[in-house]
Amino acid sequence: MAVTIKSSREIDLMREAGKRLEYVHDRMAEIIRPGISTWEIDKYGERLIREQDCVPNFLNYNGFPASVCVSVNEEVVHGIPSKDRIIGDGDIVSLDCGLIYKGYHSDAARTHAVGKVDDRVLKLMERTKQAFFEGIKKATDGAHLYDISNAIADYIEPFGYGIVEALVGHGIGTVLHEDPQIPNFRQRRRGLKLKAGMTLAIEPMINLGTAEVEWLDDDWTVVAADGLPSAHYENTILVTTGEPEILTLDRW
Ligand code: MG
Ligand code: MG
Repeated sequence: MAVTIKSSREIDLMREAGKRLEYVHDRMAEIIRPGISTWEIDKYGERLIREQDCVPNFLNYNGFPASVCVSVNEEVVHGIPSKDRIIGDGDIVSLDCGLIYKGYHSDAARTHAVGKVDDRVLKLMERTKQAFFEGIKKATDGAHLYDISNAIADYIEPFGYGIVEALVGHGIGTVLHEDPQIPNFRQRRRGLKLKAGMTLAIEPMINLGTAEVEWLDDDWTVVAADGLPSAHYENTILVTTGEPEILTLDRW
């Protein structure tokens, strides 16, 4: 699939899709506490999406059974919500979620600390978020795609964390995953030239230990192979001729 350039009408719709998703994330953040099940978080997220006249784009995506991916501790991404999975004090919980507004998709992820979390893990979360902000600095018209990847790698590598390579960011628009793929790890080539009007989901997935991941038997949940915690942070962004615009976050 070709990389798409959005018209100003499409960009307005994507801005609205982003704003509505940010609202969902902000509300979900308020209910995360020890004792809540990952299923309850998903159901709440789905309700918030539908209440805003939007459609959850993760639900039934390639058969995924929920609207929110809830990934706890060593789970990197694509955790399946369950009534039996109860959040505990000291957990980190990554919520990855998206919606469709008038045919246009948004996609964003946040990792939350619950109760008292180990300082090394809090740092991992902070730096994963910062890695996104390092990457987006390069997402301007005329720059190259892999400038984003290398900016993330330049920032993360000195910490000795494992940068997940098995999963990457992506273009986004009338479908959830458009071209191009956006790796978070070092690239030798510069990649395609970015143009104003491209909309991208930049999403570093960073492991405290090894970069290696495995899939659980449910065929969805991706876990760090060494069982150490993993963090995820994602926004949908717009490439412009000036500062890039984060469509799923007003405050930055
Ligand atoms: Mg996502
Ligand atoms: Mg994504």
